[in-house]
Amino acid sequence: MKPSMQRIDEATGRYLPVIYPEELPYWEALKQRRLELQRCKSCAKVWYPIGPACPHCLGLEFDWSLMSGRGIIHNFVVYHKAWTPGLEKRVPYAVIQVELEEVPRLTTNLLNCPVDKICIGMRVEAAFEDVTDEITLLQFQPNTG
Ligand code: ZN
Repeated sequence: MKPSMQRIDEATGRYLPVIYPEELPYWEALKQRRLELQRCKSCAKVWYPIGPACPHCLGLEFDWSLMSGRGIIHNFVVYHKAWTPGLEKRVPYAVIQVELEEVPRLTTNLLNCPVDKICIGMRVEAAFEDVTDEITLLQFQPNTG
């Protein structure tokens, strides 16, 4: 379990992640507009959250693998209250769980979509939000392609 050292970016109201060394490739890729996750060298499955071993076969060897960035909304919730200063301008906003084409599920936000248009099964694609010079957050938006 990570210690609770999270900071809040005052301009955006965003919680800033505590980045551990083993997570650096993930965050560096996001800065470059790519979603990369760990792919097991033994069973070829992709996993998330980031961790030292494959949860499918316990393999310890992996590559950082480029994801398609496409998926569907598995579930979602809409927030009508700003829980941190700076989030007021986003209210109401959606927190979604995306199931990637490569299977892992990610919890994130949906951008560029009215909250009353969100539905389970909706096709979405990765979007990237630069919050600070060091932190780019993975977001999603409707897949119009
Ligand atoms: Zn594996």
